[in-house]
Amino acid sequence: MDFRAGVCVWVAVSLAVVGCEDGSGRRQSADAAPVTFTAADAESALGRVQSLVTAFPVRDAGTPAAGAAARWLAESLQAMNIPATVDTFEDASCDGKATFHNVIGTLKGTGDGWIVLLSHFDTKSGVGEGFQGANDGGSSTGLVLELARLLQARAPRRHNILFGFMDGEECKVAYRETDGFHGSKRLARQLRREKRKVKAVILMDMVGDRDLKLMVPHNGSGPLRVLALQAADAVGERAKIGLFDGVIFDDHQAFLDEGFPAVDLIDFDYGSEPGRNDFWHTPLDTLDKLSAESLLTTGKIVLEMVRRVEEKD
Ligand SMILES: [Zn+2]
Repeated sequence: MDFRAGVCVWVAVSLAVVGCEDGSGRRQSADAAPVTFTAADAESALGRVQSLVTAFPVRDAGTPAAGAAARWLAESLQAMNIPATVDTFEDASCDGKATFHNVIGTLKGTGDGWIVLLSHFDTKSGVGEGFQGANDGGSSTGLVLELARLLQARAPRRHNILFGFMDGEECKVAYRETDGFHGSKRLARQLRREKRKVKAVILMDMVGDRDLKLMVPHNGSGPLRVLALQAADAVGERAKIGLFDGVIFDDHQAFLDEGFPAVDLIDFDYGSEPGRNDFWHTPLDTLDKLSAESLLTTGKIVLEMVRRVEEKD
């Protein structure tokens, strides 16, 4: 992910106007069983992060370990009765042609709309011994797996749901056309070619930090940025999320570029002290920096976002 400095607009106070507008209207539709993200689900999500990171601590794109991690993710989805495939493809990279593996799971809805829940699972290469990508790549991957389990159990659902685990998010040298975001560009173009009616792409990245402060970067669909705050307000997590007035290039950008509504929920302040970010892309990005509580916060917000997108259109 690439960061462009901007002014951080941290709005910790309750968004009263938005919350009011939203609070009285749309509620759970009568034909859908309610689904909530509980503390037990968050513990389960953390367990999935631990399983991934322990089995595949190095998941650099183009390595056999990345392929093995992709197969493990597909098998994890299949074990939940979610049809899943590994989309293996070649793409130009800074080292010539390289092989990548996107993992795609799908749940059928009654309509033709799609909600896409995204994470990347690859690790940054060359960071050094001990690096696990526990938060950067691991945390969101375990969380999306857990969200898949919860959403699979809920039926009927209006929109189809795609769970996308992207490979090659990290760049090897510097972000450019042939370096980084390989998986998301591939999936976004596929969905465009297939003319999928995508209602929302919700990307999660670095969402497991014990000291969670989610930000919603400026480059994102306006309605989805607002929806993230509304959803957080509704589930009592508004203090943990704020709008960010800077640009963060992340996997959601490929979907924006293809004209899809997309948003990124990311905590890009990951370190020993606020502003230091010294756990990011360093050997300090390890499992002990994560908490189930942070996955609970993000899980609750995203599940509420999904519910509201389903009810809206
Ligand atoms: Zn990274």
